[in-house]
Amino acid sequence: MKSPLIQELIEAFRILPGVGPKSAQRMAYYILERNKEGGEKLSQTLSRAVSEVGNCALCRTLTEESTCTLCLSTQRNSTELCIVENPTDVTVIEQSGVFKGKYFVLMGHLSPIDGIGPSALGLYLLEARLARNEITELIIATNPTVEGEATAFYIQQLADSFGILTTRLAQGIPLGGELEYLDSGTLTQAFIARKKV
Ligand SMILES: [Zn+2]
Repeated sequence: MKSPLIQELIEAFRILPGVGPKSAQRMAYYILERNKEGGEKLSQTLSRAVSEVGNCALCRTLTEESTCTLCLSTQRNSTELCIVENPTDVTVIEQSGVFKGKYFVLMGHLSPIDGIGPSALGLYLLEARLARNEITELIIATNPTVEGEATAFYIQQLADSFGILTTRLAQGIPLGGELEYLDSGTLTQAFIARKKV
């Protein structure tokens, strides 16, 4: 018989993706039996991150600053803008070192069934940015899923209305795959072989 608080802790761990009842129980007991210090650090960091991390005012990626370091960097090419679905995609592309421009992070993809339309993806921010005439190439790196493709098509039309060149990552990305699971070699190839859409 578990105490109510232990049960509550186990339930709390279950909000994490891929964590079922058994893993959640293992995590809870691990902290309580063997690593209270680590558990304390986890709870403090989690609490701070949840309250302080928000979205970059320019690219929407996750950051505790109002504008992220990547957006503020003067070392990056501001004429190339890469559109990705998630902050982890930025990390993957950065690890490959193939891209030196700036990013725009959708924080998802268009999904009318779930009520996620253009404004939920901050596309008004993207539109305002395209209107400033600084961007000469928009690289759409949404995932090659049905939703990712639909999102790419929408953004491509938006870019077209401003007469901005749009490219899309090329071969090497498996259909239905997601960027964050790609090795950097495959991603680099896809970037180099990107094509006009
Ligand atoms: Zn940013």
